Amino acid sequence: MTSTFSELGVPAALVDRLTALGITAPFPIQQLTLRDALGGRDLCGKAPTGSGKTLAFSLPVAIGVGRGAPKRPRALLLVPTRELASQVSEVLSPLLAVTDRNVVTLYGGTSVGRDRQRLAKRVDVVVATPGRLEDLLQQRALTLGDVDMVVIDEADRMADMGFLPVVRRILDQTRNQRQTLLFSATLDGDVDVLVRRYQKNPARHEFDTPAEARGDVRHVFWAAERPERRKLTAKIVRETGPAIVFTRTKHGADRLAKQLAQDGITTAAIHGNRSQNQRESALARFADGRVHVLVATDVAARGIHVDDVAAVVHYDQPATDKDYVHRSGRTGRAGAEGLVVSLVGAEERKDVQKLQRDLALPEGLHDIELSLLNGGVLPAPRQDTRMHTPRERRGGSTGASRNGGAAPATSRGRARHGRSGGDANGGQPAGGRKRARRR
Ligand code: ADP
Ligand code: MG
Repeated sequence: MTSTFSELGVPAALVDRLTALGITAPFPIQQLTLRDALGGRDLCGKAPTGSGKTLAFSLPVAIGVGRGAPKRPRALLLVPTRELASQVSEVLSPLLAVTDRNVVTLYGGTSVGRDRQRLAKRVDVVVATPGRLEDLLQQRALTLGDVDMVVIDEADRMADMGFLPVVRRILDQTRNQRQTLLFSATLDGDVDVLVRRYQKNPARHEFDTPAEARGDVRHVFWAAERPERRKLTAKIVRETGPAIVFTRTKHGADRLAKQLAQDGITTAAIHGNRSQNQRESALARFADGRVHVLVATDVAARGIHVDDVAAVVHYDQPATDKDYVHRSGRTGRAGAEGLVVSLVGAEERKDVQKLQRDLALPEGLHDIELSLLNGGVLPAPRQDTRMHTPRERRGGSTGASRNGGAAPATSRGRARHGRSGGDANGGQPAGGRKRARRR
């Protein structure tokens, strides 16, 4: 049984605004959470990347937030990256316009003076990254003493050890009597710290994309030592179309972007050392097709929101399973097909073996066959592209049954488009058409 936005408790004026924005029916995670969130309950929502979590918390904020005062916002939305902060604000703003509330967005790389000016006027909602927010709190540019509504987006990331202390210092400054909404793509042990400390009897809702609605994401692992990777990467992205290539370091990202450009591929690098303007412009150029390859570091991965990225290339291996999941989640969004290629050096074989086991991916290394990347024959896609963090698998709730879908590494020979069922690309090769959006 599905409900409409209105049946879930969204007021008519907002339903109209959503319709004008082309949003007519709630996505599953919105179905699951809106009633509780609008009812004022604390909430823990888990759903995969691209499933519509932003709207799931933006609607309750727009509807429920009180009227603030200068320097005294009433709602706080914490997000891990600058890109995400501006994306969340873009979703929230048109809704707040309907409910006569405003939002101030705070993140690093922009003028602190401007932030202070905007906070000096009435502010209802603040969307912020922890670092910049803490700076401004220390400067007494605002106080969180009136905040009775808190959203923690990408909670798994916010609960990472690096972030957790500042997140806690910030949340401790909000009102005790408050509603706290927490959303994440994974809910593992780290997130529990936030749940236990900052939520009261939260409603828990989880949504996993049903297999038939999910894009086929193929994970292949190719042996490639560092000196071979540049040429190989160039060849891969020529075959696949729009791609995101991940490197470990900022320097590595800059260098590879330059090298690929020398090979005739339009690239942009996106990482923490680029200015906010540079990052936004790189994303925009990628989204509208002027740039074909983004070279990114893990920090940047979270903020990238572009549908129909044909391929993700792990040029350097990710540091953790979580990073692999988040990097790879950039492709195969919204039912589209996706390809994930890992370039694996001899000394990385062991780590990759463990990663494949932990995430129930096809094991072993595959033959490098470039001609097959685009519309040809590749290892069969996993029936179930959901990946688990090790912790979830140890929890054992769903992990075991998923292994059945993993294709053996050697099971090549299945026609890429020969399967039945919903093919979101209408049978086109993964890179054949680009429908990129950036909000
Ligand atoms: P998540 O935060 O879960 O990764 P987003 O909130 O960024 O995902 O949403 C992914 C995409 O889905 C966005 O482009 C958003 O505009 C779109 N979207 C969200 N909810 C709906 C809906 N109910 N109907 C149509 N599109 C939606
Ligand atoms: Mg999100």
